[in-house]
This record gives sequence, structure tokens and C-alpha cells, in this order.
Amino acid sequence: MINNNGDCAAGAVKKTVERVAVAKLPTEIGEFKIAGYRSLDSDEEFVVLMKGEMDRNIPTLVRIHSQCLTGDVFGSIKCDCGPQLRKAMEMIEAKGVGAIVYQQQEGRGIGIINKIRAYALQDEGADTVEANEKLGFAVDARVYGQCAEILFDIGLCKVRVMTNNPDKIKALEEAGLTVVERIPIEVESFEPAAHYLRTKKEKLGHLLSD
Ligand SMILES: [Zn+2]
Repeated sequence: MINNNGDCAAGAVKKTVERVAVAKLPTEIGEFKIAGYRSLDSDEEFVVLMKGEMDRNIPTLVRIHSQCLTGDVFGSIKCDCGPQLRKAMEMIEAKGVGAIVYQQQEGRGIGIINKIRAYALQDEGADTVEANEKLGFAVDARVYGQCAEILFDIGLCKVRVMTNNPDKIKALEEAGLTVVERIPIEVESFEPAAHYLRTKKEKLGHLLSD
């Protein structure tokens, strides 16, 4: 299923990731394949959940999903990560083709322990941006270059990106992929997430309709 032919600017980028293994992954949502990637210049690991035949010439649904232990696993309603991930899987399942790169940049890159420290500050009234600043972290420390390399490696070039985050679009374009379309991924949010989402929209430039 992985086809490395075709002419794509991302192909000129020096390779900094390696694919270690690919396996089948049946899920509640559908049949997927899962691939494990390793960074060659850090100890970061990535996972790709994918479905269908990849073709560089066909604009394909993709998402870069940053790990959110609290939302993805525990069903936290402080953010919308869990439902977004599920929605992305459902959209790929419905289309029959697509890929999600799951990057382990928990808490917008600060790690799970620091994210819990930030949550503790939020319990005292800080918003998500103020909390990171109080802890001395960048508001968003994530980088996406290697995610773009991975999308190229699985055989993609033209992508339809499921995201509300303009930084992700910019990073994919800078890495040489062609972003054909942005697909908004809005999910129903609970009240604790509503404040968080407003902050993401107002302070981090996310493209949310409300
Ligand atoms: Zn989250």
C-alpha cells in the first residue's frame, strides 16, 4: 500500500524519520493499519493510523493529532481532543482512505506532568495560555516537520487536512506537501472545554466558527 513514486516537493527534504513496523489494527470504528515511526534526530516516536491505498496524486484526508492523554484516553472534557480524534477516524473510515499522524507532543509540547501543573494553575483561574506562561513555557511548543515527512513516506503529497490549527497547515506546506483543502473539525464541546476553545481561538488563532 505504500507507494513512493511521484513528484512531490516533500521528497527533496532530508529524511529524519524511519518506519519501524506496520500492522493491522481493527478498531471499534473500522479496520485500520498502524505504523510506528522513530525520529532519527531525537527520541521522539510517532504512530500513523491509516486506511486505504495512498496515491500522491489524489488529495487525501489527513490529520496531525497531538497526544492528549487526558482527552484521548480518559475522556476529559477540559478540551476537545478525544472527540476530534474519533471524528477524524470516522471521517477516514467513511471515505475509505486517509491517515492520522499521532505525535507524542502532549500538552502542546510540554509533557504530561507539566500539563497537569498547568491544569492546577487553571484550577486557580488562569486560562490555558496564562498557565503555560506562568510555568515559563512557550504557549505552543509543538513542531510538525517530521509529521509531514511521515505523510510523504506513507505515499502522500496532496492532502486535505482535518484541523482548526493554521500552524499545522503552514508546517505541512513548508515541508513540501500540497495542502489542497482544510477540513474544519468541530465537535460538540462541554462547558469546561468551551472556555478553553475560546482561548484557543482568541489567543492562538485557531479557526473555530464560534
Ligand atoms: Zn486535549
